[in-house]
Amino acid sequence: MKNINLFLILCLLCLTKYAQAQQIEISNLKKHIYYLADDKMKGRGTGSKEVFKAADYIEKEFKKYKLQPKGENGYRQSFKAKVWKVKVADSIRDADNIIGFIDNGAALTVVIGAHYDHLGTGHQGSSKDSLGVGKIHNGADDNASGTAGLLELARYFSTNKEKEPYNLLFIAFGAEELGLVGSKYFTEHPTLPLEKITAMLNMDMIGRYNPDNGLAVIGYGTSSQWPIIFKDIQAPIKFNLSKDGNGGSDQTSFYKKNIPVLFFHTGGHPDYHMPTDDAEKIDYQALKSILDLEKSVIENVMKQSNKMDFIWTN
Ligand SMILES: [Zn+2]
Repeated sequence: MKNINLFLILCLLCLTKYAQAQQIEISNLKKHIYYLADDKMKGRGTGSKEVFKAADYIEKEFKKYKLQPKGENGYRQSFKAKVWKVKVADSIRDADNIIGFIDNGAALTVVIGAHYDHLGTGHQGSSKDSLGVGKIHNGADDNASGTAGLLELARYFSTNKEKEPYNLLFIAFGAEELGLVGSKYFTEHPTLPLEKITAMLNMDMIGRYNPDNGLAVIGYGTSSQWPIIFKDIQAPIKFNLSKDGNGGSDQTSFYKKNIPVLFFHTGGHPDYHMPTDDAEKIDYQALKSILDLEKSVIENVMKQSNKMDFIWTN
């Protein structure tokens, strides 16, 4: 009897563990954002000691999910980025993309991306605070939120029992704030042939959902297949589809290479590029809903039997 009870308890534990693995977890999102947007990370400015620490953190998570390294040196793809908005002595800086792969042996790959750098202590330009130089810009929404989303989607798909009919490539981009440098570098030096990419989904600032405006899903016009993919998509949040392939974030680099894109974005707010973009201001419940929506979109992309066609929108 005792043994049977023990067996039942073990079964229950296994089931709970299995159920947990199949969900986007708010506790994980919080853990990532509070880590990346902590004052100790000093705003993750490109070339700083702290942004390399953030890169280590992402790499460790990728490793934990058993993603295959798909950079040029393990998970890393290193490049140089230039500070050009302001004059500084150290204007040429080292940066990394962190790249992990779920290889399902498929012909086509879906790319999921988010940048993890931010403005540091305001010395690289772009701060909206006129007295921002020297202040830590935590960048919780921009873009610890997207990075946390990237990590949770990577964890989710890596624990999926069924083999998907597509491969998945997860990229945490460096040096976005210096002009989309990491994503441009990747599309110029891809670690997997670009023609094998069916679509790219980018997350930049997805933490400040405003129910009046809804979530912006940009890039809907870049393939005739997006309307098919979105046909049965339901979400507990409001979302607005707009056509443009071009936009102020990393999906633009892929769009320019004729790859269908989507850009998920909860919009501007008074803390945008300010030292006050902090972790406690993130709407974690809405963030989870956005990721659930993305999960459904990715799953529908993987139901397409052919590579998506591409349309220029502007
Ligand atoms: Zn930004």
